[in-house]
Amino acid sequence: MSEEKTRSELLKEQLFMKKEHTSVCIGEEGNAQADSFSEGYMNYLDCSKTEREAVETALEMAKAGGFTEFDKNVRYPAGSKVYLNNRGKSLILAVIGHKDIKDGVRISAAHVDAPRLDLKPNPLYEESELAYFKTHYYGGIKKYQWTAIPLALHGVVVRKDGSKVSISIGENEDEPKFVITDLLPHLAANQMRSTMAEGIKGETLNILIGSRPFDNTAGADAVKLNIMNILNEKYGIIEEDFLSAELEAVPAFKASDIGFDRSMIGAYGHDDRVCAYPALMAILDCDEPDYTCITVLTDKEETGSEGNTGLDSKYLEYFVCDLAGMSGADGREVLSNSKCLSADVNAAFDPNFPEVYEKKNTCFINGGVCITKYTGSRGKGGTSDASAEFMGEIRSLLDSENVCWQTGELGKVDEGGGGTVAKYIAHLNVDVVDLGVPVLSMHAPFEIVSKTDVYMAYRAFLAFFNK
Ligand code: MN
Ligand code: MN
Repeated sequence: MSEEKTRSELLKEQLFMKKEHTSVCIGEEGNAQADSFSEGYMNYLDCSKTEREAVETALEMAKAGGFTEFDKNVRYPAGSKVYLNNRGKSLILAVIGHKDIKDGVRISAAHVDAPRLDLKPNPLYEESELAYFKTHYYGGIKKYQWTAIPLALHGVVVRKDGSKVSISIGENEDEPKFVITDLLPHLAANQMRSTMAEGIKGETLNILIGSRPFDNTAGADAVKLNIMNILNEKYGIIEEDFLSAELEAVPAFKASDIGFDRSMIGAYGHDDRVCAYPALMAILDCDEPDYTCITVLTDKEETGSEGNTGLDSKYLEYFVCDLAGMSGADGREVLSNSKCLSADVNAAFDPNFPEVYEKKNTCFINGGVCITKYTGSRGKGGTSDASAEFMGEIRSLLDSENVCWQTGELGKVDEGGGGTVAKYIAHLNVDVVDLGVPVLSMHAPFEIVSKTDVYMAYRAFLAFFNK
């Protein structure tokens, strides 16, 4: 048989869309780079279980990379690296470009909050000689996934005198962990007949935190007293201090390689630190760009971006306006000429649940970084639908820099939906499209991503900044 390709084979090559496994696309050297990049990411994850920690870790890395605190009264020369820390929960990093700022800036925006269980303002109680913390879940979770797994506690408590204590307990081998109990199958006949949404209710997400009475002496609330006494000795707090606290229970897992081939990463909080870290590394590695480049690590995306540390706040707009003011430019003009990659994850096709995906328009693990033209639900409701022009610009940029990419929607039409920060950026009259890493088991306590996809996200943000 002839080796020569038929006319239809040639025409298919020329006309049809191609789909390639990222590992094939980037070859041996690329895979090694992806593995090494992922090591840094896994370290970042283990140090960054909450939005505050993610900001703190990023800030340390930025300072080590030469970033200094932004001062709107300084006129920064090209190549300057500045940061703005918004209340310890969101962070802006910028590298000043050579071009006139009037031409706009380049923004990558990712969120560093993740679904979790927040302690209620009055969390501590004793029931049947067991001590508990009451919680109010944060973001979209399947409640049953949060029972019977080890939990760690992170956050801050502000005492009445205004002093603040940071808490992180349950991550190290020698530290205690916490847990939400579940019903044994032997007695769960009724629970098992209920829906998965109702099998575990919000008010049963109570964290077990102790069981011994104070002084080993019986008495009313003796177990609660013992716990409060331990907390007082360790952190110098009293019960009322919980009112001015942000304490978050998160899975006590470390990030780990997944699979015999170690091709994937399992961890808590990939959504959206798996985009935050590549966007962070891209701004750290961005030297003397043409356009001023900005990475935003924001808070509160999982609860709708409201609040002054979320992107529905004006903190990003204020920052860009201050940058503009530095060279006498108009902030509105700068924003209107700006472009943004809204860096967020998308749902990877899961062969265990094929029925909710539309395979022709779904992203795949190892398919490369995913461009999501629009999110939303019920007929594109609540989304910023990126323009054909901006989509064209981004795909041609990624191709020119050999970044492996794919495109995907979040599931089938009318199957559900979701949103990102893109619409809040669009509100500033900035051109924006979602671009991020495909995730399996999104919003579960342990989520899965592919190492090559993570690396492609970094390469995409870097290409965007260096254009
Ligand atoms: Mn997200
Ligand atoms: Mn999410």
